[in-house]
Amino acid sequence: MTLDGADQTPAMPSSSIWSRARSIVRLWGELEERPCPLCGSAERWPVVRYERFFLPIEVAMCRGCGFVYAARMFDAAGAERFYQRTYADLMYDRRPDVTKEMIDSSAHHGRFHLDRINEIVPKFSGVLDVGAGFGHFLAECRAQGAQVYGSEPGDDRLLYAQKDLGLGEAVTVEPFETGRPPPFAPDLVTMFHTLEHLLDPLVVLRRAHQLMTPDGWLVVEVPDLMGPWASHGVAFIYIGHCTYFTEASLTQTLAKAGFVVRHVTRAAEPGIYPANLRVFAQKGEPGPIAPPPDIDAVRAHVKAHLHAWSFENGYPAWTLKLVKAVLGV
Ligand SMILES: [Zn+2]
Repeated sequence: MTLDGADQTPAMPSSSIWSRARSIVRLWGELEERPCPLCGSAERWPVVRYERFFLPIEVAMCRGCGFVYAARMFDAAGAERFYQRTYADLMYDRRPDVTKEMIDSSAHHGRFHLDRINEIVPKFSGVLDVGAGFGHFLAECRAQGAQVYGSEPGDDRLLYAQKDLGLGEAVTVEPFETGRPPPFAPDLVTMFHTLEHLLDPLVVLRRAHQLMTPDGWLVVEVPDLMGPWASHGVAFIYIGHCTYFTEASLTQTLAKAGFVVRHVTRAAEPGIYPANLRVFAQKGEPGPIAPPPDIDAVRAHVKAHLHAWSFENGYPAWTLKLVKAVLGV
């Protein structure tokens, strides 16, 4: 696709009302149909058509394997344009600037993640964090004596991790899938709310499998589609989320990449996302895997949690946010 002059200028919050409206409308045309990222089937049952900004991403359940995913999405180039140009406008109330609140929250989560991992994996020597954010988790691991390495696509976050936390070249902007491997074989690989943002979670999981030590641990956190996310309402269905895992479908996805799940925990601690699902996996042959929830159960759960008509967190609330985002107020 060729880019016109307006496209080459990042649409920061100072862009005009016209360019913001146009970039949002254009997103509609950039969504493309895609088959199930897990089994390749194009047959699906619809669950929710529109995400919170009214983009028709068609969250659906695969008829082949039961995986729930966004069946209309950007391709990789479209996703990059979205995050570089439109994301900041849409998320007008979460500006991309680094705030003290964001740093404090990240530091809290970094410590929290390490504490939860230490409960199950008390010893490790090399940590790879995919989607390292501000780098607090890696800094905590480094303080515990481990070698660390991470990838992070967000400029602000990467810079903070490299400079403020002194992680330097231990964090890279290179995509984990295609970038240079860490200079050590990790015995702990972590992905905190990373997997659901990827078009193809299998590519990343297989790469992790390839790089890890034979008895290393993989810790994955994702939002749980069948968890208690009612406080999020419509916000849960979101263009940034390409897949919607359940415990069964995450286990199934990990099995396809060569992992067996050893522990499953859910967070109910203050400050942690209520529908958080955390699994600890190792390389190995999985036994029988529970089938994913059926389409009726998924539709009923989503309907009960979506609060579609709520003025607090349903589509009416997001209509107002969208109008404000376009107007820049
Ligand atoms: Zn499938």
